[in-house]
Amino acid sequence: MSRFWSSVVHNLSPYVPGEQPKIDGLIKLNTNENPYAPSPHALAAIAATMDRLRLYPDPSATGLRETIAAHYGVTREEVFVGNGSDEVLAHTFQALLKHDAPLLFPDITYSFYPVYCRLYGTNYETVSLDAEMRVRLADYRRPGSAILLCNPNAPTGIALPRAAIEALVTEHPDKLVVVDEAYVDFGAESAVPLVARHDNLLVIQTLSKSRALAGLRVGFAIGQRPLIEALERVKDSFNSYPLDCLAQAGAAAAIKDDAWFQATRARIVASREALVRGLSELGFEVLPSQANFVFARHPGRRGADLAARLRERAVLVRHFQKPRIEDFLRITIGTDEQCSRLLALLHEII
Ligand code: PMP
Repeated sequence: MSRFWSSVVHNLSPYVPGEQPKIDGLIKLNTNENPYAPSPHALAAIAATMDRLRLYPDPSATGLRETIAAHYGVTREEVFVGNGSDEVLAHTFQALLKHDAPLLFPDITYSFYPVYCRLYGTNYETVSLDAEMRVRLADYRRPGSAILLCNPNAPTGIALPRAAIEALVTEHPDKLVVVDEAYVDFGAESAVPLVARHDNLLVIQTLSKSRALAGLRVGFAIGQRPLIEALERVKDSFNSYPLDCLAQAGAAAAIKDDAWFQATRARIVASREALVRGLSELGFEVLPSQANFVFARHPGRRGADLAARLRERAVLVRHFQKPRIEDFLRITIGTDEQCSRLLALLHEII
């Protein structure tokens, strides 16, 4: 293959998502989905929108953006919506992250980021996590155009407090700081309240995890108007609708159902604490997670081997073939029954 073609192929090597096999009785703890059904109000809103499928959806998603704005205490003009936060990230890369100076992000984080960098021609540099697998902000004092952090980080689950994010945006007024808060609702502090006083901060969230709507594909960004306008310009250049009408209606109803949201996340956090205790009793080292997954390794067992043995027993967990984390398993918090089954199988295997 010529050098030209091998570089094209390299730049287009896709992100490999977690498996979605269709096997009866499978316990899926590999893709950080919510184990519970979404808000019944969201489902009812989707059903009630069916008779509007004949019509085009609102291209500005005005109602949904207003609902998100009201919920987070910002204005509609400070909200951008897309088909999942992956699409919001894609627009962010195209609109805001194409500079000569590199984009900085941790070496161990959401594996989509380097894929997007290659796809959109974004120059990037990774910054090592520290010895405890934490993001150390002092390490970002280096030349760069922007900083991209996943908070809580994936796959470690470790979160930075809001004050640390504020210190970062204050210390780097010339860098755009993008915070991907896909997992923020399971115990971490959101940076959204900082948007009002920092024009170099963009916060991205999703309804796929804490709202149990991964299949609906809704994500959003909150930032000051110039950032949101830049995202809108990229979207408009595709002449694309942001979201179909079912997604707009279902997402708005889900955001409004705070009772479902609070109860479900409390349940998942309680299950996480129980799973952490169970894994620790089995001898696992578990990183302190504020997400809907835990990242754990057993001192005596290889990660790949444990993942394979669980798979033989119809339990899927995520394993990364990557230096430094190859002996860790990333385990999604399932129902209490699923977590108990996982612990029983690990007990048997170990
Ligand atoms: N960011 C992070 C850190 C994620 O783990 C995921 C889900 N894999 C996403 C963004 C994208 O989620 P979605 O497109 O479903 O909103």
